[in-house]
Amino acid sequence: MKRKGNINVKTENIFPIIKQFLYSDHEIFLRELVSNAVDATQKLKTLKTVGELSTDIDKLRVEVILDKENKTLTVRDNGIGMTDKELDKYINQIAFSGAEEFVNKYKDADKKNSIIGHFGLGFYSAFMVAKEVEILSKSQHPNSLPVKWVCDGSPNFTMEETKKKTKGTDVVLHIADDSTEFLEENRISAILNKYCKFLPVEIKFGTKTEKIDDPKGKKDKDGNVEKTDKVSDNIINNTKPAWTKTPSNLKEKHYKDFYKELYPMEFTDPLFHIHLNVDFPFNLTGILYFPKLKNNLEVQKNKINLYSNQVFITDNVDNIVPEFLTLLHGVIDSPDIPLNVSRSYLQADGNVKKISSHITKKVADKLAQMFKKDRKDFEQKWDDVKVFIEYGMLTEQKFFDKANDFALYKNTNDEYYTFSEFFDKVKEPQKNKDGKTIILYTNDKKEQHSFVQTATDKGYEVLELGGPLISHLISRLESSNTDVQFSRVDADIIDKLIQKEDEAISKLSDKEKEKLQKMIEEQLDKDKFTVQVQNMSVSDSPIIITQSEFMRRMKEQQQLSGGGGMQMFGSMPESYNLAVNSNHDLINKILSEKTKKKRVDLIKQVLDLALLSQGMLKGKNLTGFISRSVSLIK
Ligand code: ADP
Repeated sequence: MKRKGNINVKTENIFPIIKQFLYSDHEIFLRELVSNAVDATQKLKTLKTVGELSTDIDKLRVEVILDKENKTLTVRDNGIGMTDKELDKYINQIAFSGAEEFVNKYKDADKKNSIIGHFGLGFYSAFMVAKEVEILSKSQHPNSLPVKWVCDGSPNFTMEETKKKTKGTDVVLHIADDSTEFLEENRISAILNKYCKFLPVEIKFGTKTEKIDDPKGKKDKDGNVEKTDKVSDNIINNTKPAWTKTPSNLKEKHYKDFYKELYPMEFTDPLFHIHLNVDFPFNLTGILYFPKLKNNLEVQKNKINLYSNQVFITDNVDNIVPEFLTLLHGVIDSPDIPLNVSRSYLQADGNVKKISSHITKKVADKLAQMFKKDRKDFEQKWDDVKVFIEYGMLTEQKFFDKANDFALYKNTNDEYYTFSEFFDKVKEPQKNKDGKTIILYTNDKKEQHSFVQTATDKGYEVLELGGPLISHLISRLESSNTDVQFSRVDADIIDKLIQKEDEAISKLSDKEKEKLQKMIEEQLDKDKFTVQVQNMSVSDSPIIITQSEFMRRMKEQQQLSGGGGMQMFGSMPESYNLAVNSNHDLINKILSEKTKKKRVDLIKQVLDLALLSQGMLKGKNLTGFISRSVSLIK
């Protein structure tokens, strides 16, 4: 008996809306239908487990069948099925009103950003790509009759009894003329691979090419066996991905294999992983990997995949995972993350905040544990992980506090210290006359070699601190340790950097110093260099070029923030300090030189040597220096 019906459309026809614009990516229909099919098998399994169903059940599975000739795509499951009453209730009423509500809520929203996982529309999303949809279903409940529902995308549907031997549900999409891409095997294969790769029930994908004898089929009077579709045995998913397993049952190799499964194009192993497993106060599982970083950090983003009960939702986890961890790779699976809400709502959502801070805590704990367990190994990994950690320390106060236990600082002899270890070591020796401990560092020990050498000769420690974040991190460390001050080795002459007692006495009178200063200034670009005659030790260099810590840091921080914000430093030219050693023999010789020519040559030579040791002597000036040197030797 066929009956016609009319889906109760309240305000306006939602079908054109569904079709047109609800999702920017129409491909999501397949995720929705396969998820429904998987749910149907899971419900059946539950019924069986609780003993409400006494009949035997087949191995649970879902099939996606592409039939190019008839232009259909079918999602078939052997799950719980629906009786005609259930179909009427779930599809005509509940699902429809759900879809209607969903459409009303989102039809005016900003399409790109508003819906994170686009969850919620479900079955009716089929009409994004189909001009007609059939449901053929037979319930698992004994004695239920199979039912067929057909709807052509208008609010009208028909329902009638049908023939269907197997229990479960077929959803048959007659693909619309503007959606024929979904009749391409490669396209469907790619969509399944994206959304269904880790679903908990076997998903087979096949292209219908021929009919074969049904092994369970009856023979007709002529002896012909009933036919069935041949579907290839191509299982596209891993039903038990590593993150769903108990960590103690997994070995290092399993984690690495799973990494390869997630990123088949990634050829380097991850450095290490963190297995997340929480069930209170929310459900969350997952595995985060620390990848070996490449140079371009941006390229690395969007590598964490968000799942909900093993269904892929999105690879955009901003707001769920703290920003510094978006550089990690891996999977997060949580049914507790609201998926069909706007991003701004998500940011304010209490659960999401908790998830984010929990992940931060877990990552910090794991790092602390690794550090404790095998410090040597951790030190070896340090250079690769430090960007994450420093970024985290700068952006999350809680992480900063925890990271103090394991964040490492390397000195110029490649020895690693935690901050407090290092501080203990240099606290007394590097204390200046005002009681501040000066931490010396270099960001390039080759380029700043002479400064590093001078400092270490004095028995001081020099840290190697580099990377794009370091000047921010240094400021952070200074503000939480007020008796500490960082200075790059080339920020001043060493005895000024760590000023111990009053200055050494000078061999020159103030008048002589003044004269000397003028002579040297004449040979220099005054906007770039500030000359100071200083009373240094006889063994120090005659002239040392330095750059003020403050100015340099300002510039670095400004560069990192893309020039915005600190505009006042924008037009500042490079400027350097030139310390002239009033006690050096060569400097004294300048004053006693008889002819102006000889004097100027000597000044130029000493200046060039200072520039040379800083790598600042280039081009024409370098050539001039060399020929002057040759004639001086002659
Ligand atoms: P949701 O899955 O979010 O509940 P849907 O619109 O996708 O919403 O589906 C509505 C209902 O229809 C489901 O809750 C389920 O009861 C029923 N349903 C859909 N697909 C199937 C299926 N393959 N087998 C059994 N029941 C189904």
